[in-house]
This record gives sequence, C-alpha cells and structure tokens, in this order.
Amino acid sequence: MADFRTTDRLLTLEEALVQIQDALSKQDSYERLPLKKALHRVVYQDIISTVDVPGFRNSSMDGYALRFSDLAQSSLNVIATSWAGKPYTGFVGQGECVRIFTGAYVPADCDCVVMQENISQCEDTINVKHWPKHEENIRNMGDDTKRGQTLFAKGKALGPADIGLLASCGIADIAVFKSLTVGFFSTGDELASIGSALKLGQIYDSNRYTLHALLEETGVTAIDMGVIPDNAKAVEVALHSASKQCDVIITTGGVSVGGADFITNVLDKIGNVNLWKIAIKPGKPLLFGCINNTHFFGLPGNPVSVMVTFQQVVSPALKKLMGHSTTQAGLILQATTTETITKHPGRVEFQRGFAENIDGKIIVKPTGRQGSHILSSMSKANCFIVLEQNSGDIKKGQTVSIQLLGNSL
Ligand code: AMP
Ligand code: MG
Repeated sequence: MADFRTTDRLLTLEEALVQIQDALSKQDSYERLPLKKALHRVVYQDIISTVDVPGFRNSSMDGYALRFSDLAQSSLNVIATSWAGKPYTGFVGQGECVRIFTGAYVPADCDCVVMQENISQCEDTINVKHWPKHEENIRNMGDDTKRGQTLFAKGKALGPADIGLLASCGIADIAVFKSLTVGFFSTGDELASIGSALKLGQIYDSNRYTLHALLEETGVTAIDMGVIPDNAKAVEVALHSASKQCDVIITTGGVSVGGADFITNVLDKIGNVNLWKIAIKPGKPLLFGCINNTHFFGLPGNPVSVMVTFQQVVSPALKKLMGHSTTQAGLILQATTTETITKHPGRVEFQRGFAENIDGKIIVKPTGRQGSHILSSMSKANCFIVLEQNSGDIKKGQTVSIQLLGNSL
C-alpha cells in the first residue's frame, strides 16, 4: 500500500472501499437474544422453521364453511360455530354448514367458505346466493411458511417484518453475531455541549448526536466518548484508552491539514494509517486505520461530511464487521433533475436531493445550498444525488443517479 503522506493522487471511492473491506477482520462469535432485542442484528446461522404457518386450515373470511359437493342444495343447516381460537372439530354432514369467522379452524369435512355477504339466512338455515369455488376463502396449512423451510440464511440483518415472521413460527430467541462496540468522539476546541450557553466562537457539537443516531440505526453498541480538545496529547490518550474497549472508533474533525488537525499524526504514532483522503465531496479528508485490533475511522468535522462518509464508507464497513451478507450503501435509482446542478470534475459528489415519484416518473431537485456545513439541506433530503467523478455541470432535465436515504421515496 502506498504511503499515505506521499501519494499525490486521491484514491477513488471504489479503491478506498476495496482497501477498507480487505483490511477488516470479520468477527465470528455469537450470542443468543430474545426476539425483542434482535432488531437490526445479524443472523449467525441459518434459521429453519420447525412448523407450518398457518398450522391448520383456516378461513380468510367471516362466513360459512361448506361442503362443495352440496352445490345443488337449496338450503343448508347451520349446525355449529367455529370461532378464531375456539374451533369446531365435529362432523359436518351433507346439507350442513358451520358459521365461521376469519382465522377460525375449517372443519375437516368442509372444503370452501362462503362470505357472509353472499348468503341469506332464515333462523338456522342459510341460502347460498353465490357459491364459492372449491377451496375458496380457505388458507391452507403452510400457506405462509413451511416446516423445514430456511426462514433466514446466515448474514441476514433483521428488520421488523423478519422479527414478526420468526414470532409467527414460535421462535423465541435466536443466535446473532456478537454486538460490535463502536466508540465515537468529537474533536475541536470550538465545541460546546448542548445545554450550555455558547461563547463567541463556539458552536454546539452536533456530530455526536448525528453519529449516535446513525449508529443506533445500524444496530451496533454505540458508546458516546465525548469531546477531545485540539491537543495531540489529549487525542493520543483518548484514542489509546478507547482502543482497549472498542472494536471500532470513529472521530469527527481534525483530519484535514490545518494547524489544529492532529488525528492523522497521532494515529500514525500509536497505530496505523491505512488510507487518508479520497476523491469524494464532501468528505475528502477521510482517514482509515487501526490501533492494534481496533479499526479507526477519522471523519471530517463538517456535519454533512460526517453523514456522507458514514453512509458511503463507514456503514458498509460496519456491516461487514457485523456479519451482514451484503454491504451495499443504499439503493440507486435513476431520476430526472428539475434543476441545473453545478459540479466540477475531479471527485464523486453526493449532493442532497429531494426525490418524488410523479405519475410513475422519478424527479429530483437539490434541497438547497450544498456547503458541507449546511446540515439543514441534509435534513430536507430524502436522497443523495450521486454525480460521477469526471462529470461536470448537469443540465435541467438530465438523468442522474440518486441513492435513497431511507427505503422508499
Ligand atoms: P475540522 O474537520 O476539524 O477542520 O472541522 C471542519 C468544520 O466542521 C469546522 O467548521 C468545525 O467547526 C466543524 N465541526 C467540527 N466538529 C464539529 C461538531 N462536532 N459538530 C458540528 N460542527 C463541527
Ligand atoms: Mg477541528
């Protein structure tokens, strides 16, 4: 690997991602967690269902369970009721039917359900106005998931629907990859904590709150380690002690080449700098390295740079360390820009955009000023407009790539 100080060409984002992925050691230990604690965690071994869901034939309608062969009968006797949770398991003979509700057990002799809107009733007999088809309105055993089916393969990160699916199969706890401990600091003499009054020259430390929120979403164990002043000794002491308790350390600020940017030199002294500076905007001064076995990401201080570098670089790395089988940064779609976008060739740009689906066509517009200190344009965005390294200005009406920040528009 080239020396990080003497390399004159910026690494491309792709090159940096490959180098980082290669340097990461995937952990291979697990813990068992109850379902409620497993959101965002990653499945450690394939999960096989031991049951059919549903486990019995049941009705998808409120109505009457019938014998299809009674089609010619003018009226049927209602002999019992099958409630959800209170099944009728008795015999149903020719010319008979059973009142039934959604989710209730369909008696073994019945093979269709007529919805209640399609009958007329007179005391204990019904007349079927529209006969259902054979098997209509019946949910079969294993309709949803089958016994022996692999519900999730190793490496699957669990979302809310997955947690529900496991519960529907009666699975109370599962083996997931051990939690990753990620410590994070802000650096900067200008940072004041929220709750205190600002003195001239100070700003509130927003990065730690952004990072905490981003880390919560990824499902790691996040440890807020506070603010480090712009002082090499303080940075060294803080990083050294954090490396003893964290799998990953993230800092913000202090990675440029200004007089108060100590992070790179300190990391070079107490650990290893793997790469520094990549061809993205915002976020160019990103630093990646390690202190013993702890991986280190030094993000630039500007609030939007923090979000961009986290999503493009840190998040895929955390996913690999957490055991995810896929480490993609976010879904890419094509959209038409409704405005001209200014861009200089040289770096991949992640501009903040708002995309909408108008009559099946996706359009996008930048959310305002794009300075890396303008967090409000990030807050208004639902996507990044991803502009290729070599591209220049984009004209109104051109197609651009967008990367969604959530799962949908
Ligand atoms: P730096 O990367 O340390 O040169 O900081 C770049 C810009 O980001 C400066 O304007 C800093 O004041 C600002 N900045 C650094 N850290 C934070 C933080 N934790 N919260 C908000 N802004 C920050
Ligand atoms: Mg600074």
